Amino acid sequence: MDSQCIICGKKEEFFKHQCKECYIEANTLIREKINLKIVSCIHCELIFINGHWKSFFLADVGSQKVDSALSKYIVKEWKFNYRPKDIILEDVHLSFNEDNIPISIIGKIHFFANPDIFSPLIEFNDNFEADINWGDCPDCRERFTDVYTSKIQIRSQKDESENTLKQWASEIENLSSNFPQSNGKNPLSKILFVKNGLDALFQTKPSASNVGRIFAKNYNGIVSITTEFSGFDKSKWKEYPRIPVVLINLPPFETGDFILINDNFLQIISSGDGKIEYWDFKRKKLEKIPIKSFIEGNPKKVDLDLTKYQLINIDPKENLGQIMDMLSFDLSYIDTFYIEDIQEGDEFSGIKFNGIVFRNMKQKFVFEEKKGVRI
Ligand SMILES: [Zn+2]
Ligand SMILES: [Zn+2]
Repeated sequence: MDSQCIICGKKEEFFKHQCKECYIEANTLIREKINLKIVSCIHCELIFINGHWKSFFLADVGSQKVDSALSKYIVKEWKFNYRPKDIILEDVHLSFNEDNIPISIIGKIHFFANPDIFSPLIEFNDNFEADINWGDCPDCRERFTDVYTSKIQIRSQKDESENTLKQWASEIENLSSNFPQSNGKNPLSKILFVKNGLDALFQTKPSASNVGRIFAKNYNGIVSITTEFSGFDKSKWKEYPRIPVVLINLPPFETGDFILINDNFLQIISSGDGKIEYWDFKRKKLEKIPIKSFIEGNPKKVDLDLTKYQLINIDPKENLGQIMDMLSFDLSYIDTFYIEDIQEGDEFSGIKFNGIVFRNMKQKFVFEEKKGVRI
């Protein structure tokens, strides 16, 4: 008697009065293909799979050890109607994007399974793709970021020489030694130079904050405290804890600079302790305000070199002094208020801006300080 498939009528019996095709269709193996994700270390390309950093790398994709880890992962992740007995991966390789960066591991997969313990073994074929995400492995994390719990970021808004940056670094080092860790060691673990600034990595939080504040005070920096993620741990699908960052912004000007704030013409005379002292040419007086408020006024540096002037004569009726630019011999006038200490024929320095000569008041004050006139 010929056996016949009870479903399609084909003259073939595979199992339980069904042909192979009908039997497989009624007993599919895979219920759901779950998206696969593996993590690779962005620095060394070590692979994280099945909850562990393995001892193999992206370059090992295609090897037996990667295949076997992937097989275990697929069996664990995908949903099956019954357990596959055996798995063989074939043609496992990396797939790249247009920038030649690996984005996934792809391959063919063959499952061998029997839906019923008495049925013959059936081969099910499919494809798989495991997306690659980037993280950093513990070794690289330690190697590349050092162990730090806090950091100082110094950023200047003007071009700084290499020597200046080195000077800042040694100042940071010196200051740090005053805030030792409990084991007596300097809490500063590393200094990284960036353009017009540096990052100082600290092993203790209070040291970074103390050193940062002292440095800012000495260099007229503006301190703000922010936080940043110390990295992104893709293996746990979360960021590493945030660490505090003491950000020090150094203003783009220094003492002696001529500054415009709105229409006010100023010259910076001194700075320190978070305050800035400037001469206000319109109001003819010295003022001292917190550097933070000064910066909020959006000061613009007037980029002109100092010029030497000679006082020719004074017109007491007009309260004006006639002065001569000693390079161009151009004549100009200046309010006698600004040249009270100057004799006819003497020289002083200043700049000419929009047709008006502004005396270098810093020079005047330094001179008065030396004579003990200015307190
Ligand atoms: Zn059939
Ligand atoms: Zn690594």
